[in-house]
Amino acid sequence: MANKPNIIIILGKSGSGKGTQASLLKEKFGLEYVGSGSLLREREKGSDFTAKKIPETINDGGIIPTPVIFQLWMAKLEEYKALGEKLKGIIFDGSPRKIKEAYLLEEAFEWYEWTDAAKVVLVDISDEEAIRRITKRIVCPKCGDIYAFVKDKYEETNECPKCGSKLEKRPEDTIEGTQKRLQWFKDEVGPVIDYYRENGRLMEVDGEQTVEKVYEDILKLIGHDNN
Ligand SMILES: [Zn+2]
Repeated sequence: MANKPNIIIILGKSGSGKGTQASLLKEKFGLEYVGSGSLLREREKGSDFTAKKIPETINDGGIIPTPVIFQLWMAKLEEYKALGEKLKGIIFDGSPRKIKEAYLLEEAFEWYEWTDAAKVVLVDISDEEAIRRITKRIVCPKCGDIYAFVKDKYEETNECPKCGSKLEKRPEDTIEGTQKRLQWFKDEVGPVIDYYRENGRLMEVDGEQTVEKVYEDILKLIGHDNN
């Protein structure tokens, strides 16, 4: 029997540091990365209806609907399947975001013969901690990378270490904006978390620790030690 790829789904509130953990895991295990943000940025480079509507929807604070997201995911999964034995695994950063996406993803994994290959990690922080971190953070307007909210990891800085752009505070990173996102997380991602908890896939990690400790705990949970 062929080895199943290492599929990791990492979930967490805004400000939980799940993106940082996703990149660490991606590097360590040579995983393919699926993040809605990067896929949508790629997709909006086209000139068709959807390419034009994606940035408009995001700027209006809207959510990209599941069929659009799924079309992008399926194209990626097909590409990864074609890698054959070279495929080490896939990491889903912050998705699925709705219960119907979780169901569809489950069917997609069955289709590609990766049934039961997925492990789900929830990087858990309190609402208070999310608000504290998000209202403090600054981001690169060009790469979308987030800096300075995890004080043990990034020094206070004004320039993006990757592209040199001036880092700025996002207008939606207020207490009110954050509370709205936390409510959305509870309503939409909450059922996804419950679903994975019920089918025994969910692993929870305390996200209020240092980046290194969170990473160490994730490696233990998914069954790999950090060496
Ligand atoms: Zn940058």
